[in-house]
Amino acid sequence: MHEMSLCEGIIQILEDESDKQGFQKVKQIWLEIGALSHVEPQAMYFCFDAVKQNTLAADAKLTILDIPGTAWCMNCAKNVKIKQRYDECPHCGSVQLQVTEGEEMKIKELEVE
Ligand SMILES: [Zn+2]
Repeated sequence: MHEMSLCEGIIQILEDESDKQGFQKVKQIWLEIGALSHVEPQAMYFCFDAVKQNTLAADAKLTILDIPGTAWCMNCAKNVKIKQRYDECPHCGSVQLQVTEGEEMKIKELEVE
């Protein structure tokens, strides 16, 4: 389950940030997960609860925000919504799409003390 290592990575980021910013505790985390990122939100909740024990995020509440997949269609010359990578353009059926959004996972916001 690669969500486990992703969650461990998040804890690592939080620890680095706490050194930089000088906070002691993380109360809430908002995490953006793109629809094309192959990250399963349910698994993230589960793994996060497991890895946060005995860390600065032990009491932190995780909120996951879904980011839809977006790609640039060269044929239509506009951004279109896609559900998965290598989808066709929903308007013209072209496969010449360049993903512009929805592949990333990132921490959007932190509430700390
Ligand atoms: Zn198109």
